[in-house]
Amino acid sequence: MPHAPIAIKNIAVDIAHDVHWMRLALAEAQAAAGAGEVPVGAIVVKDGQVIATGRNAPVEGHDPTAHAEIVALRAAAQRLGNYRLDGCSLYVTLEPCAMCSGAMLHARLARVVYGAADAKTGAAGSVLNLFGHAEINHQTQVQGGVLADECGELLSGFFRQRRHQQRAEALARHPLRDDALRTPDAAFANLPGYPWAPHYVSDLPSLAGLRLHYLDEGPRDARRTWLCLHGNPAWSYLYRRMLPTFLAAGDRVVAPDLIGFGKSDKPKKEGVHQFEWHRQVLLELIERLDLRNVVLVVQDWGGILGLTLPMATPERFGGLLVMNTLLATGDAPLPQGFVDWRAMCRDKPLYEVGRLLARGNPHLSTAECAAYGAPFPDKGCRAALRAFPERVPAACDDAGAALSRAARDFWQHQWQGRSLMVVGAQDPVLGLPTMRALQQNIRGCPEPVVLPHAGHFVQEHGEAIAAQAVEYFAH
Ligand SMILES: [Zn+2]
Repeated sequence: MPHAPIAIKNIAVDIAHDVHWMRLALAEAQAAAGAGEVPVGAIVVKDGQVIATGRNAPVEGHDPTAHAEIVALRAAAQRLGNYRLDGCSLYVTLEPCAMCSGAMLHARLARVVYGAADAKTGAAGSVLNLFGHAEINHQTQVQGGVLADECGELLSGFFRQRRHQQRAEALARHPLRDDALRTPDAAFANLPGYPWAPHYVSDLPSLAGLRLHYLDEGPRDARRTWLCLHGNPAWSYLYRRMLPTFLAAGDRVVAPDLIGFGKSDKPKKEGVHQFEWHRQVLLELIERLDLRNVVLVVQDWGGILGLTLPMATPERFGGLLVMNTLLATGDAPLPQGFVDWRAMCRDKPLYEVGRLLARGNPHLSTAECAAYGAPFPDKGCRAALRAFPERVPAACDDAGAALSRAARDFWQHQWQGRSLMVVGAQDPVLGLPTMRALQQNIRGCPEPVVLPHAGHFVQEHGEAIAAQAVEYFAH
């Protein structure tokens, strides 16, 4: 009995010592993590002194045996000039594996103290227990669980971060899906008037790995964001005359290329191009980029799709700049100009995009016209160009028609923002009569600004429109 209090005191002292030594092993583990190795650290203690340290280093040394314990045992044996480590204790942050446990037994180590248990390869009790065989172990005592939480958290944090990094790297590569094509970057080299850096996203749920391209210029926390949506067969290049003015005003500009257009991936099958799917992609992009105080800028399909967006998330939108487009509600006949255009696309599916632009826009240079055609170097890349004219809702139960009717209701009764309508009068497809009808459906939309010389691709007269819009939406 008189000895009992002394024994208890010694146990307390031992525990305090174990924690102290384990902190030194943890420092080694942290250093291993810093070097990109799985963070395990070890030290060897003899007579109250650290005589060797070791950190995990198999990657750096191309050495499968370079576990922290082996490194530390080897250093300790060198230091003592003896492979037998009589009277030594080894502290390691993770339960030793079979190899390291075997080495400790060979070294006649007096004691091993470890931190976290290793449910996968632990050989000091978790998976097997090499120290539990009297036939092979006469020397080594085992103590586990010292600073187990800290040791384990260092490991799980390391693996968590590594998984995160691997996922980020995989995403950054945007691998091309088998069922899609990607226009080579070379096709977009040195396009006139289009200096902006590409941005890509492929992990929106609806994209399922397809790579969507968008421009994202100006400060992320700008007072105002212009969301510029193109139609068929254009792409974000269409907005190059307007972007500089928006940016000069200190605003943010986001201009995506719809899937199938521009620098975005191009699914081989036309069937991919469905109204609701394209709309969903845009909604997810708006949410991903967390666009706020948005002025929605639309024309052609940019409006057919884009005009159905604000009703889904009205709090994000404050303004509408609407150019030659329509709400295809299916309960009114499509304009004859559009019907003619659709027939032309069926008739001549390989029409030249650059030439189409040149026809209505004689002020464009040859290089600018060629830039419009750059995304579509061959027939395979043109699935969207074939599909889109067919997807404009024409009847009441066509895909997208009900959404468009709901959108019409939204614009008529719930729209709280300011609107500006600009019409290219020379547009044979979606011209002034179509736009006047649309104006009636947009609450508070003033008389359209009519550009007598502009055609369908109104944005090609965009400098003046952008300047007017910056002024108009400032109020
Ligand atoms: Zn090991």
